[in-house]
Amino acid sequence: MTSFKTLDDLPADLTGKVALVRVDLNLPMADGVVTDDTRVRASAPTILELADKGAKVLLLAHFGRPKGEKVSTMSVSMTIDAVQHVLGREVMFVPEIAGPVVVQSLGILRPGDIAMLENTRFWKGEEANDPELAKAIAANGDFYVNDAFSAAHRAHASTEGLAHVLPAFAGRAMEAELTALEKALGNPERPIAAVVGGAKVSSKLDVLSHLVAKVDHLIIGGGMANTFLAARGVNVGKSLCEHDLAATAEAILDAADKAGCTVHLPYDVVVAKEFAANPASLRTCNVHEVAADEMILDIGPQATEALADVLKTCRTLVWNGPLGAFETPPFDTATVALARSAAALTSEGALVSVAGGGDTVAALNHAGVAAQFSYVSTAGGAFLEWMEGKELPGVKALSPA
Ligand code: ADP
Ligand code: MG
Repeated sequence: MTSFKTLDDLPADLTGKVALVRVDLNLPMADGVVTDDTRVRASAPTILELADKGAKVLLLAHFGRPKGEKVSTMSVSMTIDAVQHVLGREVMFVPEIAGPVVVQSLGILRPGDIAMLENTRFWKGEEANDPELAKAIAANGDFYVNDAFSAAHRAHASTEGLAHVLPAFAGRAMEAELTALEKALGNPERPIAAVVGGAKVSSKLDVLSHLVAKVDHLIIGGGMANTFLAARGVNVGKSLCEHDLAATAEAILDAADKAGCTVHLPYDVVVAKEFAANPASLRTCNVHEVAADEMILDIGPQATEALADVLKTCRTLVWNGPLGAFETPPFDTATVALARSAAALTSEGALVSVAGGGDTVAALNHAGVAAQFSYVSTAGGAFLEWMEGKELPGVKALSPA
């Protein structure tokens, strides 16, 4: 694992210093109210530790996808109430990330005070990882702390660029995540199974092509399975499916074959004509019997049982993406069943199980087994890239210990 400096490498007294702290404030919202503050709670220890050591803490984060424009509905200030609530401290909002407005704010802040800078993605240089923007932000700080593991797979100015112009430390949440992942998967015992499901097919295909070289069993479910089944000539009806990725799916199957990785696609599926809870048209059938007006919404009971047997032969499991549309019953059946099998094997000490992804975590919570998994990461994209063995740019750029 990359070695990196942590908050333990900072002086005990930070009075008079300015900490630029990258956190994850990309919080789910409904009607202008934050609906889940997990990400804030994750970074609270880092923020409070720095403040309590006397630093002036400047928070940096992105919110939504404003694509380099100032979009008022995507101001990170929308999260400030939630952040103040979690921290139990007042947080000052600064509508810039660099320049005189930030300088002015620093003049007002006292040691131990916390401020939130505006959405980093309002500036084009953020996603372009423009060194000039990184330098402009860095001009107002003494050191940089990255506590946003979930954004570490992106080389942006606030996630990577800053680490090249300031001493760069991993925050407590980042440190905990990397330590846990390393402990669980740093030297995985074989056989290894990977479950990849969910809906973001195109963004996950790339991961699959790398995973097949690393795992012994690749279990494909969710919308992802439909794309592979279609590539194999199966009629998937109205299912969520990316037909234009058939060639990519074929190439992944070939690569798996060459690497000695067994790919598991479902042979029975749960289908319905309409996407609703317990629809009248619900039925289970062989993958070759899906009608043109049906959609596959879960993998079937036979496939689920076979997969549970595969897990019994494995020592390590990595999981991203639910096997079906688990939010709507009964399309949670396979996900819940396999999650419970994995949890039971983990509890027996037979399996090390690591899962990641926003919806995957929700699905494991729904199954009531998240706590039984060896480790669960809320990060989606970063977890996947970690899973395929990529070095995350935001981690790589931290100051070496
Ligand atoms: P994660 O957030 O864990 O990375 P994704 O965002 O890729 O996972 O996918 C989760 C979504 O995939 C869920 O909302 C689930 O309903 C959906 N999904 C899974 N299987 C299917 C399917 N067969 N058809 C439609 N949607 C599906
Ligand atoms: Mg998701």
